[in-house]
Parts: sequence; C-alpha cells; structure tokens
Amino acid sequence: MLLEKIGHWLQRNGKRIRILQWNIILFYAILIIVPACLPLPSSQTHILKNLTLFAQFAFWGIWWPFVILSIVLFGRMWCGVLCPEGALTEIASSHGLGRPIPRWMRFGGWPFIAFGVTTIYGQMISVYQYPKPVLLILGGSTLAAIIIGFIYGKSNRVWCKYLCPVNGVFALLAKLAPFWYQSNQIQWKQEPLETLTVNCPTLLPLRHMTSASGCHMCGKCSGYKNAIHLSPRSPNQEIVEQSLKKQNTWESIFIIYGLLGIALGAFQWSVSHWLPLIKEYLATKLIDNEIMWPFDTNAPWWLFTNYPHQQDIFSWLDGFLVIGYIVLFSICMGSFVFLLLYTTTRIIGKFQIARFNHLAQTLIPLAGCGVFIGLLANTITLLRNENIIFTWITTGKFILLLLSTFWSGYLAWKVIQKYSISIQSKITAIISMSIIYIAINGTWVFILLIWSVKPDIRVLL
Ligand code: SF4
Repeated sequence: MLLEKIGHWLQRNGKRIRILQWNIILFYAILIIVPACLPLPSSQTHILKNLTLFAQFAFWGIWWPFVILSIVLFGRMWCGVLCPEGALTEIASSHGLGRPIPRWMRFGGWPFIAFGVTTIYGQMISVYQYPKPVLLILGGSTLAAIIIGFIYGKSNRVWCKYLCPVNGVFALLAKLAPFWYQSNQIQWKQEPLETLTVNCPTLLPLRHMTSASGCHMCGKCSGYKNAIHLSPRSPNQEIVEQSLKKQNTWESIFIIYGLLGIALGAFQWSVSHWLPLIKEYLATKLIDNEIMWPFDTNAPWWLFTNYPHQQDIFSWLDGFLVIGYIVLFSICMGSFVFLLLYTTTRIIGKFQIARFNHLAQTLIPLAGCGVFIGLLANTITLLRNENIIFTWITTGKFILLLLSTFWSGYLAWKVIQKYSISIQSKITAIISMSIIYIAINGTWVFILLIWSVKPDIRVLL
C-alpha cells in the first residue's frame, strides 16, 4: 500500500520532479565544467576546500558506487527521477524532431560495447583522477544524450534505452530490485478502453511488463487502468521465474565478458604484480630491437594520461599495456566463466542457449557486488587522503563478496532445480558453478589482499 502511494505520488508530481531534475542538472554542470577550467589541486588541500576534489569525491566517491547500490535496493529510480542525463535527453526529445528509432540503434550489443569502450577509455585517460577526462567522458555522454534525444523519439529516453554506457549494468542489477511496476493482467482486461495513454519514456510494453530491467521507475504509468502499481516482489523472482521466459544472449555476454571481464580487469591493472613483469619483458624486447617510440610520452591527455606536474604520464607502451591487460583479462576470465557455464548447462541436460542464459543471470549478484566494491576503492582512497581511515573496510568487502556469492549460489540452485531431476546432476552442476565463484573471489583476494601491499603501479609506470 505504501509502495502504491509512492508510485502514485511520483505520477502526480511530475512538475516537482522536473524542478528537482533541473537543480541536479545545474549542480552536475558546475561539477563537470568548472573543475576542468581550474588548476589541478595541490596535495595539501581538502575535499571541502577545493571544488576539483569535491567534484572528484561527488562523482567517483559517492555517485558511482552508491547509484550502483541504489539500483539493487530501489530499482532504476535513479534513472527516472534523479539522473541529469536521462532528464536532459527526455527534455530534448520533447522539443525535438521526433524521428523514428533507426534499426542500427536497436542492436542488442550496444550496452556491452558502450560499457566496454567507456570503461577502457576511462582507464586510459585516468577519469577517476583528473577533471578534464571527466568533462570529456561525462560531458561527451551528456551531449550525445541531448543530441540523440533531440533527433529521436517523442518525449522519450531513446538514449537511455539503447545507448547509455551504464544502461547494461543498471538493467542487470534492476532485476534484483525488491520493487517493480507490476502489470495486473486480469485488471487490464476488466477496465474499459481508455483514451488516455501513457507515454513510457523507455518505450516499454506496459501491459506485458515482465521485468524491472528497462523501467526507470518514473511513476508515469502508476495506477494506469488501475492495473499498474508499484509492488513488492522477491529479489530472486525475476531471475528465477521471468528470466526463463525472456532470454537475451547479449545480457549473458555483458555479465561474462563485461562485468566479470572488463570491469574486473579495470579494477585490477593498477595493483597487478603481473603488469610490471610484462612491461619489463616487452621493454627489453623493444630495446633489443631498437624500437624506441613506444617509450615516448608525447601522447595527448585525451588519449593517454599525461600530467607531467603530477609525475603521472603514460608512455605509449604503458597505454597499450593497460588496454591489452584489461582486454586480455576479460578474454581469459570471460572464457573461463563461459566454459564453466557451458559445462553446467550440459550437466543439467541437453545444451540450450536459453538455459545457458538463465544460468548466466544467476551470476548478477556476485558480478554486481564486484562492481560496487571495486568502485568503493575510489571512495576509500579519497577519504584516506582526508585522514578518514576505515580499518574494517577490507573485511567488510569480503563479507559483501561472501553474501553475494551465496546469493548467486542460491539463484543457481533454484535455476538448476528447474531443469534437472536427478540429485546427482544437481550437485555436480552446483559444484561446476562453485568453480566460477572461487575464481571470481580468488581474483578479489589478489586485488584486496595479495597485491594491495605493493605501491600503486601508476607510480611505477
Ligand atoms: S514502465 Fe515506463 S512509465 Fe512506467 S514507471 Fe517504468 S519507465 Fe515509467
């Protein structure tokens, strides 16, 4: 009942929400534009005294990790109510050309490609550390959202639905949300034809909604035909029940090679003990062959990190190594997970892509937890610079990993039970899935414990 009221409140208060969105847009614009025009902060200054540090903390210390968390807790309410980019694309769309959505944009691989390219590019130019890359990546994405909004759709969020770089992560995590806008089929049939229609910003089929993935929780459809209401549900329901009916191989690729591959690679390259060894090997080979240009440090800041005053410069070799490391890690880890998912699917019966995809979705809690704790590293580093130190944080991260591993394991068990009758194959299948959990957690043991004793590799590069 309370949830229903919240949904209706959102539906009735569109104007208030728009005012809130304009305030956020203003705040967001200041935080991405002004720091890029200021000199870089000295090491003596603090978050509350320097706008650049404040913006860095706001974006990477609070916004990014806690938006990820909020999606699991509240669905994509961030997107529908607070996101400045979503609001701007919708506003642009309501005053734009209203063109139909082109075929190329409907390609299912965009979330994976956009996420992969943005993540790797962010590492190449050190987006978490410097304000100009923030302006380039976030500002560029916002500009693209406005342009796409202006050209396509009519008061819709075409950008968010098809091209936003974080749409893929949010869509997966929203499957775990304990609320959603539920469409009641019986009620729908009973209601007389209504002339008023709801313009869902993300173009969802309101009558046949089976997922919270694409819903931005804007509330516009709340109470429509008395059939759609914000309702509670089990956080396991969508993955165990609905994912059976609605399969998307691109979502599996995103989980396997995106969240467990590219994202995990991006979180670990800067602390990896292997990277300096690879660099040493390659550097020796290059010198032996008298190929010296890869050691030059003349790449512009928008291609590879180049801040001489901060002694933070990538040579061409460093830059290509970072890209190569993330891509290679993604291929290796992703393929390992892929093979084990394939094996598990075979254990529970004949191979079917639908079953494979269903099992892949059970990894969402563990993969999502990895993204959250990886991003939390920025929060902790920035607070440590302010002399705020949490001695328990590593333990806390491992507890979160453990809980999310059990959650993924529970989901996998429920999915396996749907396909397998024999207890022997059920147990073998869950053992096979457990090898994936061990590999992912093992990677985190390296990142958080074994490699963390070494100084940041950025200093060494
Ligand atoms: S289904 Fe569409 S209109 Fe309804 S809350 Fe979600 S995004 Fe808004």
